[in-house]
Amino acid sequence: MPKLSSAMPASTDIVICGGGIIGLSLALELQRRGAKVVVLEQSATRAEGQASWAAAGMLAVDDPHNPTALHDFSRWSRGLYDEFIARVEGLSGLCVPFQTQRTRQWTDDDRVIELAEQSLNPRELMRALEQAVPQSGVTVVRGARVVRVEDDADAVRVFDADGGAISARSIVHAAGAWYAGAPAIKPSKGQMLRVRLALEDVHRSAAMYIAPRHFGEQAGTALVGATVEDVGFDTTIDEATIKRQLQQASELVPAVRDAEVIEVWSGLRPTASDLLPVIGGLPGKPQQWIAGGHFRNGILLAPGTAVAMADALEGKGLPQVVKRFIPR
Ligand SMILES: Cc1cc2nc3c(=O)[nH]c(=O)nc-3n(C[C@H](O)[C@H](O)[C@H](O)COP(=O)(O)OP(=O)(O)OC[C@H]3O[C@@H](n4cnc5c(N)ncnc54)[C@H](O)[C@@H]3O)c2cc1C
Repeated sequence: MPKLSSAMPASTDIVICGGGIIGLSLALELQRRGAKVVVLEQSATRAEGQASWAAAGMLAVDDPHNPTALHDFSRWSRGLYDEFIARVEGLSGLCVPFQTQRTRQWTDDDRVIELAEQSLNPRELMRALEQAVPQSGVTVVRGARVVRVEDDADAVRVFDADGGAISARSIVHAAGAWYAGAPAIKPSKGQMLRVRLALEDVHRSAAMYIAPRHFGEQAGTALVGATVEDVGFDTTIDEATIKRQLQQASELVPAVRDAEVIEVWSGLRPTASDLLPVIGGLPGKPQQWIAGGHFRNGILLAPGTAVAMADALEGKGLPQVVKRFIPR
């Protein structure tokens, strides 16, 4: 088993706060461009509520219920996905297959349209990323909760809860729902379940989705989700809500009603007030950056966010498709 965590070094080029999909994808991209990168992740194993582990993994580029402001960014990020996965697979030696190739989408006027859209298992992707990132040369320090950042003229000093400190040229906040600065990012809870069900395609309406798994440890099952709840950092599972989700999902695929429930869980989506990502430099803090607020699409938007942030950190500016998400 490769080593997933190291001790905190005294200095580096760039510190990333948060080892979810956004922080780890960015770390890989920066390392490829020659930067020295340290990822500080608060959890020793895996944070409860971490969105990247909880997600369904749909790369929902053409979901008509996504904000139109996301469309170009989604398309661009999806275009980067195959190469991103290939790099993660190459470094980790782990396979992250697309689980589905098509989505049956219910529209608001009750039509069903077919979308040529893929999904993957985010747990497989996270497991592979957690191996690929240290393998690439990035230092990942687990059990390091960032509690304070001090700004200097051209550097930052980052402190963790145990009194450890690291100096860097810049810090990128990729702390998901836990980001505590401005602009505000809040948690949005999603409860989800997995049932034993053989199904070919993703089925999705505005209210529900059923995302089948064909490969790996979840093969022969399907995810049913997900709620969108504004209840702070509460991650408890409510049985009545799970029953209601099963009922709603059976309106899309009747076999869900009698399917065996294998697992239930919840995750906390990082959510800005306009439900759009927040990507770029923090106002008034030239060495501090944020890659957050990915809400329901952070798995899809991870490779695009990584390339955009890496461009910005290299001084090239954000790509045009990302400029509208600059924090204000
Ligand atoms: C139920 C559900 C279903 C979803 N389905 C999809 C989907 O189908 N497709 C899709 O594209 N997206 C989906 N999403 C959204 C997607 O999961 C998120 O947008 C994405 O995972 C956000 O990634 P992140 O890295 O920003 O946050 P996270 O994955 O939450 O990672 C943040 C990390 O930062 C760490 N951290 C926090 N504070 C600190 C600190 N102070 N110091 C150090 N570390 C810290 C946390 O421990 C955590 O590991 C779904 C989300 C949920 C909850």
